[in-house]
Amino acid sequence: MSNSISIDVEDYYHARNIELAIGRPRWSSLESRVRYSTEKVLSILARNEVKGTFFVLGTVARKDKDLVRAIHDQGHEIGSHGFRHHLAYDQSEKAFYKDICYSKKLLQDISGQEVKGYRAPNFSIRDQNLWAYDSLTKAGYSYDSSLYPVYHPRYDNRDKSLSPFIQKTKNGDLVIVPLAALPIKLPGLNWRLGIAGGAYWRIFPHFLIRYGLKKIEKAGQHPAICYLHPWEVDEGQPVFDELTPIQKFRHYHGVKTLDKKIDRHLKDFSWTTIEEIADGIKNGN
Ligand SMILES: [Zn+2]
Repeated sequence: MSNSISIDVEDYYHARNIELAIGRPRWSSLESRVRYSTEKVLSILARNEVKGTFFVLGTVARKDKDLVRAIHDQGHEIGSHGFRHHLAYDQSEKAFYKDICYSKKLLQDISGQEVKGYRAPNFSIRDQNLWAYDSLTKAGYSYDSSLYPVYHPRYDNRDKSLSPFIQKTKNGDLVIVPLAALPIKLPGLNWRLGIAGGAYWRIFPHFLIRYGLKKIEKAGQHPAICYLHPWEVDEGQPVFDELTPIQKFRHYHGVKTLDKKIDRHLKDFSWTTIEEIADGIKNGN
């Protein structure tokens, strides 16, 4: 069973910790590094002959259409990460629908490829905004990969499915493709360890993530859906003094070594696009 590596294509300043520390108004005055960092991710995937899914932020795509074309031309899938990186549950239903329609059309016009998948910024579809699933099918998406089935201060998804499943919506079926997590079975403890990527891959030792991914592989129940951001392999990004020590740790820790960890994971497992996994679920495979 193949896993999937997905990349949320955004600039370092779109990251939640930096947004909270410096504020959105400063974004427009900062140097963009998303082309450099995405090209670095593309080269990691190319040298391992792996195809991935790139959820591209609309504002990034609008500014750098060539980057979207380069991702597409290298055989990767293009998905949508929304337009302005607003959390899904902070938007009204109407604003969310507009955002996902606009970003889908924009990415399709640039790449010439149908955009089937969506990933909400910071996994921001939770119990309070499940109407987002109706909006996604209405906008023509066929799968969503915004469910991280773990506990996080912003959501508690420990009771959610670890495997992909079909969600019925007002406008048809939507395949939900959750991120990889590992249940921790200890008496009195209902916990799940996120092992899907990002800060988890940067902060935890390589062997722990590898152990988790191997465990999922051996169980053979579902693929492991993993993710990362281009800025997570960018050692040259600016360091902001406004970040608290915890925010600094969460944003910058492990950036220097993540490319090597990704190389090892790509070599150790088999990988495909989320589109292929979602199509398989839809077709009952
Ligand atoms: Zn994001």
